[in-house]
Parts: sequence; structure tokens; C-alpha cells
Amino acid sequence: PVPVLAVVGRPNVGKSTLVNRIIGRREAVVEDRPGVTRDRVSYDASWNGRAFTVVDTGGWDPDARGLAERIAAQAEIAVSLADAVLFVVDATVGITDADEAVVKILRASKKPVVLAANKVDDQRTEAEAFGLWNLGLGEPYPVSAIHGRGSGDLLDACLKAL
Ligand code: GDP
Ligand code: MG
Repeated sequence: PVPVLAVVGRPNVGKSTLVNRIIGRREAVVEDRPGVTRDRVSYDASWNGRAFTVVDTGGWDPDARGLAERIAAQAEIAVSLADAVLFVVDATVGITDADEAVVKILRASKKPVVLAANKVDDQRTEAEAFGLWNLGLGEPYPVSAIHGRGSGDLLDACLKAL
């Protein structure tokens, strides 16, 4: 059985972009308009010769009421089906209520969590990632899903967690 890595986080943080980076193909749908990814989509991936399944999540209407609850509920399902979780936040925005709602689910799940501080496109933005230590989820991995910056270290951490 191939281990499963679920990618969770609020809309627009770059989950689908990161999934494309991980699988090395442009199959996950990236949109400037948030909320485009369907509920859960699985992809075959491998890193350093180890195969795993990566699950992209999404499917929320960003204008819906109770968005944070909806995101958390979706994350809960994805996390329950996964062996480890890749939690993505937007380092340029910082932590929002919707992020906090997901963190609660992650803590309760007791599954291994890898924290990605996405949109760290350059050295200057790297400092923003340090504030994410406050989440209590361990080391934040600064990454740029678009440019690939930091993605090797992030994937190493994910494979260790699986
Ligand atoms: P999702 O809703 O979490 O799946 O986010 P998407 O992958 O669809 O990306 C949302 C927006 O953020 C798109 O416009 C992406 O191009 C952009 N984005 C994703 N990753 C990065 C990144 O590393 N740096 C920057 N600057 N933008 C990013
Ligand atoms: Mg998406």
C-alpha cells in the first residue's frame, strides 16, 4: 500500500500549485479565483524513489458563510484518510481564522504534520516564515510553489513523516 499525503489549507494559499510541483506535472487546477479545486483529487507521486499518493483539497466557495468551518470540515475528511498532512499557509499573509480552524483539526488528528510557508519567492520574504513557529506545528518550511524554491527540503520532510 502506498502512503497518502493530504495537502490542506484555506483557499488561495497555493495548495494546487504545490501539488503540481510535487507531482512534476501540471494536473492540479490552479486559479487566481479561489475555491476552484474539487473536494479531493488524488495523484501518484514519488520522491527519492519512494512512491506515495498526494491528495489536493479544495472546493469551497470563498464567499460562503462559515467558510472557516467548511474548510475545517473538508480538511478533517482528508486528514482522516491520510498518513501524513502537508499544511500550507501563505507566508505573505500570515495566519487567519480559517488557518486556525484547520490547525485545530490537525492537532486533534494526531497525524504527522509538515508545515509549508508558501509564497516565499525570495530571500526577503523568508523572515515571514519564522513567525509560523508560533503555530506549534514544528518547523515551518519556506517554499515557493511557483518557482520551486525550498521544495526539495519540504519533500524530504514529507517523506520522513509518511
Ligand atoms: P489553492 O486555492 O490553495 O489551491 O491555491 P492555487 O494553487 O490555486 O494558487 C492560488 C494563487 O496563488 C494562484 O494565483 C497562484 O499562482 C498563486 N501562487 C501559488 N503558489 C505561489 C507562490 O509560491 N508564490 C506566489 N507569488 N504565488 C503563488
Ligand atoms: Mg486548489
